[in-house]
Amino acid sequence: PPLYQQRYQFVKSYVDTYKPKKVADLGCSECALLHTLRFWDCIEVLVGLDIDEDVLRRKMHTLTPLAAHYLEPSKTSLTVNLYQGSVTQKDPALLGFDLITCIELIEHLKADDLADFREVLFGFMAPFTVIISTPNAEFNILLPKCTGFRHPDHKFEWNRREFQSWVEFTGVGEPLQDSKNVGFCSQIAVFTRNYTESEESLKRKMEYKSVYKTVLHAVY
Ligand code: SAM
Repeated sequence: PPLYQQRYQFVKSYVDTYKPKKVADLGCSECALLHTLRFWDCIEVLVGLDIDEDVLRRKMHTLTPLAAHYLEPSKTSLTVNLYQGSVTQKDPALLGFDLITCIELIEHLKADDLADFREVLFGFMAPFTVIISTPNAEFNILLPKCTGFRHPDHKFEWNRREFQSWVEFTGVGEPLQDSKNVGFCSQIAVFTRNYTESEESLKRKMEYKSVYKTVLHAVY
């Protein structure tokens, strides 16, 4: 299968195994991943966030309920919310999630935004699990016609050591030794929160002012 499907498959396998109830996809673009997750039994809340409202609206109709869904209602209800906003902004709409995915998002962030995002994601949103994928620059030698970055909007493409040192900051561990091969084409990191957030801290965060713009709110 194409690479983007393999990335989605990675997320779907996680969902199959760990059964998260509240899932958000940051930089969800045309909502393709949300679309594949929308009728997963365990999922009760599905949220997408992107800075680009036009890209969100393009295929958003694929997430809205069809008459058939009302005729044959599923056992559990599903709420889908799409927001326009930046991943560098704190909004209570993204608190309390079991899983937050960031698929090929971080390489689109400028250095300042990337630093802010790390704090927003791990400090503020603090979901139980985070899955982040980003291109592996070392793989580029295997890509025909790839001279600079893989995409003109990419602000960087990290090799494995660079990605691992970014994630190491949050406590994932020592960077692996460089190996002779180039590694995977998409590098993926999975983080699991190893502490329980206090009610007080969560309450304080819930009081933040909403800043995202709601583009879609659908209840199945
Ligand atoms: N996750 C999608 C997928 O797997 O198909 C594709 C991601 S696309 C390569 C990167 C997306 O990140 C774009 O839709 C872009 O609008 C979004 N993006 C870039 N900067 C952002 C920011 N600061 N906040 C939220 N979204 C952002």
